[in-house]
Amino acid sequence: MTDDFNGLTIALSKGRILDETLPLFEKTGIRPLEDMNKSRKLIFQSSDSNVRFLLLRASDVPTYVEHGVADIGVSGKDVLLEYAAAVYELIDLKIAKCRLMTAGVKGATLPSRRLRIATKYANVAREYFASCGQQVDIIKLYGSMELAPLVGLGDLIVDVVDTGNTLRANGLEPLDEICQVSSRLIANPISYKRKLSQLQPILDILEQAAS
Ligand code: AMP
Repeated sequence: MTDDFNGLTIALSKGRILDETLPLFEKTGIRPLEDMNKSRKLIFQSSDSNVRFLLLRASDVPTYVEHGVADIGVSGKDVLLEYAAAVYELIDLKIAKCRLMTAGVKGATLPSRRLRIATKYANVAREYFASCGQQVDIIKLYGSMELAPLVGLGDLIVDVVDTGNTLRANGLEPLDEICQVSSRLIANPISYKRKLSQLQPILDILEQAAS
């Protein structure tokens, strides 16, 4: 099936990003016609017939925007650092704030051998430890990182931490902060040029709302 939609396609992901992004788009007058949290749909028409939303896995948002199937999107800085997609990062929306951190079993002493790091942020973790002068072995995971060090899969994890409650509930403790994270409005470079007249008023309002 070919896609003949010619308007603006916006990529979002479920969870905090969706909950905190929709009120920002509401200020631009654009709102999905259905509750995106409750529906099983993946494409949502909006109050503006020239704008639609896609609901994706957080780690897929930069890919959809890079390939131009979404013109703009909202993505966490953690995801942007990990996937390094060829997209423009236009606005720090200052929402869904958290930190990328290392964490380990509470009170545990780290072994003197080369450390094993269990994480879905393989690139971020490798670069961070290299910047500390440490070579590490990365164990790539796709979720539930907190489990890994408890059962001996890796000495440390790298994950996003907000309150730290998830770590504490699993007997882990946050250790070093790698960087602060917030959500960014990203754009496909070609869409940005071609659709600037439609985009600019939206960008102006989002920028104002974020400041
Ligand atoms: P917390 O228990 O508050 O530290 O939250 C930790 C978990 O919530 C993490 O393991 C993430 O899965 C998720 N989380 C919290 N904040 C964010 C965020 N801003 N972006 C993505 N995931 C988040």
